[in-house]
Amino acid sequence: MNIPFVDLAAQYATISEDILAAIHTVLSDRAFIRGPHVTAFEESFATFCEAKHCIAVGNGTDALGIVFKSLGVGPGDEVLVPANTFIATAEAVTICDAHPVFVDVDPASRLMDLEHAATKVTSRTKAIAPVHLYGLPMDMAEVRQFADQHNLKIVQDCAQSHGASVNQTPLAFFGDACCYSFFPGKNLGAYGDAGAIVTNDPELADVCRMRANHGRKDKFGHEFEGVNSRMDGLQGAVLNVKLPHLHAWTEARRANAARYTELLTGVPDLLLPSVPSGRRHVYHLYVVQTPQRDALRSFLKDNGVATGVHYPAALPNLKAYAHHGHRPGDFPVATKLAEEILSLPMYPELSADDILAIANLIKQFKQS
Ligand SMILES: *Cc1c(COP(=O)(O)O)cnc(C)c1O
Repeated sequence: MNIPFVDLAAQYATISEDILAAIHTVLSDRAFIRGPHVTAFEESFATFCEAKHCIAVGNGTDALGIVFKSLGVGPGDEVLVPANTFIATAEAVTICDAHPVFVDVDPASRLMDLEHAATKVTSRTKAIAPVHLYGLPMDMAEVRQFADQHNLKIVQDCAQSHGASVNQTPLAFFGDACCYSFFPGKNLGAYGDAGAIVTNDPELADVCRMRANHGRKDKFGHEFEGVNSRMDGLQGAVLNVKLPHLHAWTEARRANAARYTELLTGVPDLLLPSVPSGRRHVYHLYVVQTPQRDALRSFLKDNGVATGVHYPAALPNLKAYAHHGHRPGDFPVATKLAEEILSLPMYPELSADDILAIANLIKQFKQS
């Protein structure tokens, strides 16, 4: 058996003709940075997100940083960031000379715990960064209420949640902006780095668009210092080919998740993803939890099944944040998760037979 953790080659095989034609068009147009392919993608992705504005940028980390800065997050300000996420969420705060303030996560959803967040709010707290980790959206009505109560901006990290929604409401409805990554392995992946900012706020959209392009609207009319974070024409063209497939790919992920859950329900000491009602989970990752994580992981590896860990350390426990002076006991839930979670293979092309084989191996491991 040889089941990879993700299989981008399987997806490419289904769209290669369209991709090659799109790449050829970019080369003959010489539309290398921004240009018509990127503009077309911005329009279609805004429509996909049911939002008014989309600004294509260089990557998801930049999308977050550009939004924070454009919302006025600056020196001395604090932003609430979950302890269980990829480091980029926190880096984007630091890049504005502000401080990421870590918040523990809920043991069932593994997303930011708003009760713990309330204990971390100070007079300097400027924004909250909900991360819809693994593809499961936070309860955004609750986040909205929390943010209104504390007068915070809402910057959503949607790097893993393309197409997720809460009570049929698109995520962009709930906050100031949604930040997307199109890193190749994401649910919608480019063939290189790419990202986008999605918002319903026309002024924020304008400022972000300028900030991502050296603070200008026209060639030399720089109104402020920005950064260079623009989407390549090649990535725009690739994403234009892929976006029409995203809904079907997401449905395939959801069907695969349902298969895993059906086969693994009742296996002792194995916690499966739990999805509160009304939340559309788009399963960037299918994450299980068990105290024997490392042993299970090597058993699967020895039997030809690749897995991942997202993430092996809670952010406040990383060396990068040692200067915060936290102890693991400060974030008991995120710290325990990092030791027990395991991401099983998940991609649209994963077959029912593969899922059955993986589930059988897990049951065999648990019986031994
Ligand atoms: C991938 C990811 C990012 C960063 O996106 P890049 O495009 O790689 O910069 C940010 N947050 C989360 C949760 C991610 O998974």
